[in-house]
Amino acid sequence: MSEASARRVAIQTATSRTVRSLPRQVDAEGRPARVSQTFASRVFHGERMKQRLPPEIFARWSETVEAGHRLDRPVADAIAHAVKEWALEQGASHFCHWFHPMTGSTAEKHDSFLWFDNNGRPIEKFTGGMLLQSEPDASSFPSGGMRSTFEARGYTAWDPTSPMFLMEGPSGRTLVIPSAFLGYHGESLDEKAPLLRSMECLSKASSKLCTLLGKPAARITATVGPEQEYFVVDKAWAALRPDLTVAGRTVLGASAPKGQSLEDHYFGSIPTRVLALMEEVEFELYALGVWAKTRHNEVAPGQFELAPVFTEANVAADHNQLVMRTLRSVADRHGFAMLLHEKPFAGVNGSGKHVNWSMQTSSGENLLDPGHNPAENLRFLAFLAATLLGVYRHSGVLRASIASHGNDFRLGANEAPPAIISVFLGDFLTKIADGIVSGQVANLAPGQAMIELGVSRLPAIAQDNTDRNRTSPFAFTGNKFEFRAVGSSASISFPTACLNAAVTDGVEQLIRWIEGGDDVMTAVRRALTESTPVRFDGNGYSAEWVVEAERRGLPHARNTPSALGLLNTEAARTLFERTGVLSKDELHSRYDVRLELYNKKVEIESDVLKELVDTYVIPSLIAEEQALVGASGTLAASRSGAVAAAGADLLAARNAVDAAVAGASGEGLMAVASYYCASVVPALQTLRNACDAAERIVADHRWSLPKYREMLFVNG
Ligand code: ADP
Ligand code: MG
Repeated sequence: MSEASARRVAIQTATSRTVRSLPRQVDAEGRPARVSQTFASRVFHGERMKQRLPPEIFARWSETVEAGHRLDRPVADAIAHAVKEWALEQGASHFCHWFHPMTGSTAEKHDSFLWFDNNGRPIEKFTGGMLLQSEPDASSFPSGGMRSTFEARGYTAWDPTSPMFLMEGPSGRTLVIPSAFLGYHGESLDEKAPLLRSMECLSKASSKLCTLLGKPAARITATVGPEQEYFVVDKAWAALRPDLTVAGRTVLGASAPKGQSLEDHYFGSIPTRVLALMEEVEFELYALGVWAKTRHNEVAPGQFELAPVFTEANVAADHNQLVMRTLRSVADRHGFAMLLHEKPFAGVNGSGKHVNWSMQTSSGENLLDPGHNPAENLRFLAFLAATLLGVYRHSGVLRASIASHGNDFRLGANEAPPAIISVFLGDFLTKIADGIVSGQVANLAPGQAMIELGVSRLPAIAQDNTDRNRTSPFAFTGNKFEFRAVGSSASISFPTACLNAAVTDGVEQLIRWIEGGDDVMTAVRRALTESTPVRFDGNGYSAEWVVEAERRGLPHARNTPSALGLLNTEAARTLFERTGVLSKDELHSRYDVRLELYNKKVEIESDVLKELVDTYVIPSLIAEEQALVGASGTLAASRSGAVAAAGADLLAARNAVDAAVAGASGEGLMAVASYYCASVVPALQTLRNACDAAERIVADHRWSLPKYREMLFVNG
């Protein structure tokens, strides 16, 4: 079978799949089951711990977690026993510490509960020690040079604030213990520890500010709701595309005659096969306690979204990893390939992860909710001003936090936030902020100022006034901010940790001003005044904004290497050290790991594109050329000319890639990354353009790679 006819077979496969559905869930009486009845059935959550632990142990556990202290051994032993019994009842045979290495995904090593008693008879055993800590042989994870080989082993430690759960295997279950991954001297080798530390510093500072504002709150939690965008294509197509297989995106492919120009997909009716996929994904996520809330078609053909209800930032980060993993595995069962890449297809929208973010008191009050009385209004303004100040002062760090090879293809492109961090507030709030900056209410008592400014009217107005501007990377949406620049395949942990750290700095500055004698409104005014340049409500995609942003002195890093450069600064080191989120070495390791990842991604894409050119595109062109040998007539002659020209362009571009790759020089990860970005990436783009031109003239039956129109539109 020729490769081109493999494409025909794929059409057959993709169009003749049957829809996979689950049996309808019913309760004991045979009535349709309600999600609320089975939600979190596989989670060892607080309620379940309370039922299964002696009351004094449960109380000590709650206190320890609330205070952020280490668990002592007797408590850990009791919890280990209870969770083991529960897991065994549920059919689990193994447990694993599940962690988030700096690769951005997750890692796990399974251990059996199986042990033996004094008589050598088999038993199931799980102790507090085994729960709290394990030592995986994890020396191959990236550490950014932090670990020397003689102490290469790291250990994982349970994060007791994220509940344990059962992972389903084909024939068994595994107890999963959400964990942090640390080196021998306690240095963080993962995404989790910095996130937890950032939540801690934000809580401390915010709680202090709440006290200064006269509304004390013991603990503040960063809340996050990440909306996840994704593409699906039939597996039959993906299997025939080496680029999708190894790079997660298409590195060549001529645009389909129809892309998203008719805008007929967005919020359209969900294709049945995809709906079946979503239903099964949700079914699994509900059991895991993930609050999957909304599902809809996104803008590009084949693009969809899943949004959860918000929760504590660290739990949201764990849940988002579960969402990505569940999407992948369920898609496979439905004959789909799940594409979480930021830009799987050129010419149509890419995918992001809109990280909705706010801060909440332990009694559930949202600090970014304008509130119902002057005191709440004042608190709202103070935290809003602190957020703006933090984002303004550390917009470089925030830009760096979302930098990746994949996101480079998305930022600034169709419907994607630009590579400059700015904040959208909406008309009404902008008027309020401007009013404060200009001193309009400077001499009024806070209560009177709130009335004068109309803050109390904000909740009603915010609902329809905000969230209109899709071009802003960081937008206020009524009672939270939406950090839209995060990439769809990325872990939300690092961007969230950076945001928490940045806002902590803003909050601490407000505290210093107030403690130094400013009244609250004066401190708010200073913060709003200083951060004025970061506020921008206009069109973030326009060329004028780039010029204007540079005039305002906002960092504009157009690509990953220059964005990562913003992590390697004194300002960044000071922020992370002062907040305790990352030590100097830990920060440097993130910088190194991210640069290295970028370099590897460029190398992979360059290799796969060259392979596609040499083993697919050129053979197709040769076949086309051969077919025209000896053919006569004006059509054939003009076609031969076109094929020859396309071939010549292609070869030149192919050689240019070799030359660019060979020309790499310079020492160190940053030098290589900068070189790749300036020389190799553009050469790959030129080669891709030559391939796409060839695709447009080679006879369809001689083109072996699935085409955009098939991958985007022929999915059963
Ligand atoms: P919108 O349609 O304006 O984006 P939604 O209410 O649909 O607003 O929320 C979108 C996402 O934002 C959801 O994931 C939601 O859970 C999350 N979200 C809502 N409130 C908060 C909050 N206080 N903190 C963090 N995330 C939030
Ligand atoms: Mg939204």
